[in-house]
Amino acid sequence: MSTENRHVFAGAFVDRSGERRKDADWLADALASDDSRFVPVWNDKFLVGDEPAGTVLLEHHQLSHAAAEQELIFLGIFRDNPTFAIRIDGEDAPFRELGQFQELRYLGTILPPDEANLFAHARALVLWHASQVFCGICGSAARPGAAGNSRICINESCGREIHPRVDPAIIVLVEDGDRCLLGRQQSWPEGRYSTIAGFVEPGESLEDAVRREVYEETNIRVGKVTYHSSQPWPFPSSLMLGFTAEARTTDIELNDGELDDARWFTREDLRSDFPKLPFRISIARRLVDGWLESRDAVDGQ
Ligand SMILES: [Zn+2]
Repeated sequence: MSTENRHVFAGAFVDRSGERRKDADWLADALASDDSRFVPVWNDKFLVGDEPAGTVLLEHHQLSHAAAEQELIFLGIFRDNPTFAIRIDGEDAPFRELGQFQELRYLGTILPPDEANLFAHARALVLWHASQVFCGICGSAARPGAAGNSRICINESCGREIHPRVDPAIIVLVEDGDRCLLGRQQSWPEGRYSTIAGFVEPGESLEDAVRREVYEETNIRVGKVTYHSSQPWPFPSSLMLGFTAEARTTDIELNDGELDDARWFTREDLRSDFPKLPFRISIARRLVDGWLESRDAVDGQ
């Protein structure tokens, strides 16, 4: 996949500088520096200003005293600046004089690629910290470690280091000649269909997960499975792994009841008013668009 086709939220725009995470002196200097920048995360949202328009990264002197520095998360070097995420608590949105907090799902459609990548990183880590307050082994409290890139159990006889989790999920466009398989969940907007997706289970390869999910949700057996691309999806911690697959059977049954409907659609169908396609920032949409273009390329020869 070319750089131009990078998925929203993806791209190594932040130099994660893993070696700095345990360098206390460097981190202390970076924190106090005028060069450091802070991504405020309030209610899982990000600060966007009106004048000038664009996202707001705070400088050290703008941090409120309510923000405990030990809860800072070092993200890496972003645009030459040491950059940290900071979770802001409280019912009322802070920094009103600077802008408004907005959802990343929306911001993903408008942000420059490097900011989308930075915010996805920040969102996933802030949410992970909030879900790992206690050690899962001994039940003691856990504190941030490695500059916010891990947590450490405070019970000295345990001392377990807990690492951020990433949940792999497969998403697959199944094709049968000039038709592709799309399904819809009941909660989605009327008429919207998308590619088949589901979480990888313990003990499965990605290909196994593709074959199982497609069968469970649609009764379709697939043969060849081909990797396409991947997208971080920090809602809250998924890594979407995109595939295409060739159908070996065609009779649809909604075996596990996860889908409200599933159908075969032609390219002509997908260019009409029905179905409505997945959101533009999603890997699902990229899989559908890629499939549409693949036939255009053949036809254009
Ligand atoms: Zn413990």
